[in-house]
Amino acid sequence: MALCLKQVFAKDKTFRPRKRFEPGTQRFELYKKAQASLKSGLDLRSVVRLPPGENIDDWIAVHVVDFFNRINLIYGTMAERCSETTCPVMAGGPRYEYRWQDERQYRRPAKLSAPRYMALLMDWIESLINDEDVFPTRVGVPFPKNFQQVCNKILTRLFRVFVHVYIHHFDSILSMGAEAHVNTCYKHFYYFIREFSLVDQRELEPLREMTERICH
Ligand SMILES: [Zn+2]
Repeated sequence: MALCLKQVFAKDKTFRPRKRFEPGTQRFELYKKAQASLKSGLDLRSVVRLPPGENIDDWIAVHVVDFFNRINLIYGTMAERCSETTCPVMAGGPRYEYRWQDERQYRRPAKLSAPRYMALLMDWIESLINDEDVFPTRVGVPFPKNFQQVCNKILTRLFRVFVHVYIHHFDSILSMGAEAHVNTCYKHFYYFIREFSLVDQRELEPLREMTERICH
């Protein structure tokens, strides 16, 4: 499966380089800590808890960047099968439709195709996590006051990627043999947002049944 993901990306020129944590920084140490506990076989519900003595904003920052990288990779593997034709509207089944809004081109919520929505979404997150005023990386530079609010919005929008992928592209997940991988990422993400109440309950509704089944 790992090979399969790599192969897909080797072909995909639109793939974005992963955002990395600079070695030697506190955030990098925290990222390594989070990765180590993930690999230690601890259950996902406990690995998301804030380690004693750590700062919650640092912990959230590390996870937001990591989830962005992983979810972006998952969507990238599906991207060939998610087109203007297959998905003319960004949706999660017939009951949920998502409109895009930003401070640039789409000041009013716009009905867009899924691939267009995803491209704007990934660009938007990428510019935020690379903005030193929002995600400071220098030692001693504090997070902005609205940091958790910004992260709520990022995570809420990333959740919609799962909604679309699970509901509209589940056959692709299966055919690529990626189900276990995607489920693990989803569970980790879900436990994380629940642990810190980062995404409104209503947003989780489209995947509620599946969540009950896989996140016990
Ligand atoms: Zn699609």
